[in-house]
Amino acid sequence: MKRAIYPGSFDPVTFGHLDMIERSAKIVDELVVGVLNNSAKNSLFSVEERVSMIEEMVADFPNVKVASFDGLLVDFMKKIDATIIIRGLRAVTDFEYEIQIAQSNHVQNPDVETIFLTTNLQYSYLSSTIVKEFASYGGDISKFVPEQFIQRIYSKYNR
Ligand code: ADP
Repeated sequence: MKRAIYPGSFDPVTFGHLDMIERSAKIVDELVVGVLNNSAKNSLFSVEERVSMIEEMVADFPNVKVASFDGLLVDFMKKIDATIIIRGLRAVTDFEYEIQIAQSNHVQNPDVETIFLTTNLQYSYLSSTIVKEFASYGGDISKFVPEQFIQRIYSKYNR
């Protein structure tokens, strides 16, 4: 069985992430969306909030699970018996960083392979940072995130 992990901060999850989840769930047997609990990063949503938002979003996907992790990704992958990492490439700017991480992970554990999916053109501009930027000014984020999350995001900015 091919179990893959799609790791990220998902702070908050966007339509770009959802598109990645839908597409990668079709090419692996089981997909674990891994929410990074990075205490060094100042996140808008707690790790519990991020996990539960993604869980709501993927409720209809039978082969997708959500889990949080901290520490090294390769260590978490050993624990859950996953060998594939899924990452998205939006632009050339993603590439340099991503290839370095992918190669480091492969050196750490040669059984681990990273698969890159190119972003859907429709969402190539979209990032969690853009969502936060717009929401902080009360901008329209309805094209960025599922409707049920809009108010939750605004309320973080007292809107
Ligand atoms: P990280 O902090 O690890 O980059 P993110 O939550 O920002 O976490 O992104 C997680 C993954 O989703 C990354 O591989 C990123 O390239 C990908 N991703 C983010 N936004 C999009 C998008 N709009 N389209 C496709 N992939 C995306």
